[in-house]
Amino acid sequence: MSDRSWLARPAAFFGDSKPLAKNGGVAVIGLGRFGGSLARELSAHGVDVIGVDIDEAVVESFDGQLAHVSRADATDEVVLRQLGIDEVSRVVIAIGSDLQASILTASKILKIGNRHIWAKAISEPHAEILHQLGITNVVRPENDMGARLAHLIRGHISDFLPIDADFVLARTTPPTRIADQPLASANVRQRYGVTIVAFKREEGGTWDIADRDVTLYTDNEILVAGSPKNVEAFSELDKDVEG
Ligand code: ATP
Repeated sequence: MSDRSWLARPAAFFGDSKPLAKNGGVAVIGLGRFGGSLARELSAHGVDVIGVDIDEAVVESFDGQLAHVSRADATDEVVLRQLGIDEVSRVVIAIGSDLQASILTASKILKIGNRHIWAKAISEPHAEILHQLGITNVVRPENDMGARLAHLIRGHISDFLPIDADFVLARTTPPTRIADQPLASANVRQRYGVTIVAFKREEGGTWDIADRDVTLYTDNEILVAGSPKNVEAFSELDKDVEG
């Protein structure tokens, strides 16, 4: 799995949409399930999206939904230049199954001079080739989602965001042994190797930064940061208690 993997979270993924739109928008190449939903989400957040797909029917289904949609073969350098790929602030290559098309598209975009590329890979060798071409942002949606789901299904974590292979952010509840006392006295970082970043008192409430003097209760929600192993162990501290 890519050590730069990131869940497909379109809006947050690309930061604030306004500066992007000003800088010439985002090109999404390949409007399949992944590229299509990414393009729609970006567009819904005000980003100027240029959608490109080789399939006429796919292109038609996006008519009017994006700032611009083109039927084109993205492996064609002339076409890419005509689309203004050198001017967009980000390019997403969302072609998966056609390995050759994905790699050719990536190398043509690099040749044109845009290095702000995010590419989807459907296998480890695919990801490796994209990395070797010089693309650092390679996503593996199926893998990332599978890893995330594994944590959710286990039950103690209600949301899970891998930042990198060795660092994650998880949403869970405070274990009994750190509750009802100021965070500083619970020594969370020393004892469990994680940091409680934020907390929310109740459903519908707002999130707050977890200062040292805040007291958490077991019915609160918290965001915990640290290595996957430590975060998982921390979120399961009450397991023994529950029997
Ligand atoms: P998903 O799961 O997102 O649907 P996938 O990996 O099954 O993706 P692919 O079949 O590889 O997806 O392609 C995604 C989209 O990319 C398709 O709509 C396809 O028409 C388009 N596509 C494939 N090759 C090219 C190309 N050379 N230029 C432009 N678009 C392409």
